[in-house]
Amino acid sequence: MSALDFTQTSTTRRVGEDERAQILADPGFGSHFTDFMARARWTLEDGWGGAEVVPFGPIQLSPGSAVLHYGQEIFEGLKAFRHADGSVWTFRPQANAERLQRSARRLALPELPIEDFLASLRAVVAADEPWVPEATSEESLYLRPFMFAGEEFLGVRAAHSVDYYVIASPAGPYFPRGVQPLVVWISDDYSRAGAGGTGAAKCGGNYASSLLGKREAAEQGADEVLFLDSETRSSIDELSGMNVFALTRDGRLLTPALTGSILEGVTRSSILTLAAERGLQVEETHLLISEVLEQLSSGEIVEMFACGTAAVINPIGEFRARGGTWTVGDGGSGETTLSLRQELTDIQYGRIPDRHGWLTRLV
Ligand SMILES: *Cc1c(COP(=O)(O)O)cnc(C)c1O
Repeated sequence: MSALDFTQTSTTRRVGEDERAQILADPGFGSHFTDFMARARWTLEDGWGGAEVVPFGPIQLSPGSAVLHYGQEIFEGLKAFRHADGSVWTFRPQANAERLQRSARRLALPELPIEDFLASLRAVVAADEPWVPEATSEESLYLRPFMFAGEEFLGVRAAHSVDYYVIASPAGPYFPRGVQPLVVWISDDYSRAGAGGTGAAKCGGNYASSLLGKREAAEQGADEVLFLDSETRSSIDELSGMNVFALTRDGRLLTPALTGSILEGVTRSSILTLAAERGLQVEETHLLISEVLEQLSSGEIVEMFACGTAAVINPIGEFRARGGTWTVGDGGSGETTLSLRQELTDIQYGRIPDRHGWLTRLV
């Protein structure tokens, strides 16, 4: 049962049909937004309320809002997929709802009940149904729930008034070049998270602290940055917004264990399941960067990839660091990497049976 009722206050569309068709023909990632958004507000006194679906547009925020000063903000990311019969589905939304609750606990924000999270997704996608790309397109409607300290107050404490929104953005490939092997820069100056910090929470602050590393990566001609653990700088954590996997020649699929400084990806968890079902030996472990680079040189590691909702699964073709460059396999897209990607997207688009019950119908 959902306590919040996200009622739609207006049905007037912001974007005309022609313009929408033009956008959907080449949506890119994250630069176009739909007609509507959902919102709700929490106060210490009254709890959650004020749920509604309103036209997408600027929000009013006091310059004294706590989030602008202290960064008390968390978010989620998931996708709505159109199936061949026209229906619209999303992937493991319960996992996102639970993660939003964990992130909220860490950032001293209020937990949104799981049913209310699901109701907010349903409400936005129902209102924005024409924005969900066609089933044949390998595109989706990216959903971005987020929560922040809207309270006008400069004292330092957890906010007593918090805003929750869901906005939506039609999504093509996350990387402009599509599924091409990534060049990844290994940062030795910066970390994204430390022990006891917010690394396991999906919060804007983690991204803010990753941006300089990402810029450094770009200056080195790389697409992404790999962060190592902050204490010893010896083991692999993850990229700025994606988890990392390595496949060995003898069929072991390795990924860093959840140590508290890594974000627990829904894609990561799904890959662990699919890989084990194929007979790969999955290991959540301590991945020493020195050993990984050695095993890339020796050919012991044959494929590596990054994963997350936005990019799904993306092969890594090369690592760069101050000490040199390391090619992964032959530098191309690994066979197992592409096949796992195919299987996962086939499930999401309803092209093969959803044998794990991962899909939830939205419209
Ligand atoms: C969101 C995110 C991921 C990927 O999580 P998914 O649930 O698979 O989308 C990985 N790392 C970080 C830092 C993230 O914020």
